[in-house]
Amino acid sequence: MSIQISKPFDAHLHLRRGKMAELVTPMSAAQFADVIVMPNLNPPILTVAEANSYRNYLLEIAKCNYHMAVYLTENTSIEEIDAAAKDDNIIGFKLYPLNATTGSQNGISDIKNIYPILKRMEIQKVPLLIHGEVTRPDVDIFDREKVFIEEVLTQIVTDFPKLRITLEHITSADAVEFVMSCSENVVATITAHHLLMNRNAIFTVNEKTALNPHNFCLPVAKTERDRNVLLRAAVSGNSKFFAGSDSAPHPLNCKESSCGCAGCFTGLHAVELYAKAFAELERLGNLEEFLSINGRIHYGISIPSEFINIYDTTFLIPDSIGEEKLTPFMAGQNLNWKVLEE
Ligand SMILES: [Zn+2]
Repeated sequence: MSIQISKPFDAHLHLRRGKMAELVTPMSAAQFADVIVMPNLNPPILTVAEANSYRNYLLEIAKCNYHMAVYLTENTSIEEIDAAAKDDNIIGFKLYPLNATTGSQNGISDIKNIYPILKRMEIQKVPLLIHGEVTRPDVDIFDREKVFIEEVLTQIVTDFPKLRITLEHITSADAVEFVMSCSENVVATITAHHLLMNRNAIFTVNEKTALNPHNFCLPVAKTERDRNVLLRAAVSGNSKFFAGSDSAPHPLNCKESSCGCAGCFTGLHAVELYAKAFAELERLGNLEEFLSINGRIHYGISIPSEFINIYDTTFLIPDSIGEEKLTPFMAGQNLNWKVLEE
């Protein structure tokens, strides 16, 4: 059996620089015709000009339609928003709360500090991409997304009702419920790993209770109930939900460390992982909406004329890849779906 779909769109991707970029970029380009590239590099991508030079760098590595997100800081200028609005290569601005995840040291400490910028983005119809977590130490790590929605996002949506917002990598039933309750300009991406694991996976290795750093990501995976709500939202065909893999490659020594980095590497097999999640609910018929249609409609990206075929063939996910010993999500396990380019 096989299914054919328009070549997918990954609306949230980390491609890095240097050797890591050379390793992972072709993997995503093979599966996706369009990708949104995140700006939290070291140093970060803070301007439209920097985003374009990073885009040219990626084009040298692999051919793909790279749509660039620029890092929103408390120093972002109105002129930068206007420049982004005029530039087809720029998809929008990414809001990281201060210290929420990898490379968020330049993030926003108080949302009120960027209100003039958000107003300009609303007027210019420039999308805002949000890492939706508060980072106060008094908030439980499993409640960070829920509290962000209550304390910050509800305010943004009320004060800027026309702002086009993507709540990135949602992980909770609260987030699904919130996005459904908003107007059509508020949408969400969902990762493959959050569709396939709950928080037990962070504490399980080969069915034994043990710390599994490869399943640690941010936002952290939530309960089985949350996973089920996410999964149902993803397979529903609802145009508010679409794929953003958030594939986040880290070398092995940064994952298996006393200070392990957050992030799951799904860039090798993102489409196949999504297919697995959809197949489990027997909803492969809606996979194309989620992977190839909904996100492109939100961002005004045209549907490509290329297709991919996904076959029900079993293959083994390798334990690690490349010199950096990059560990793919579900390493050493079998996947039942395989992508072949048309
Ligand atoms: Zn990310």
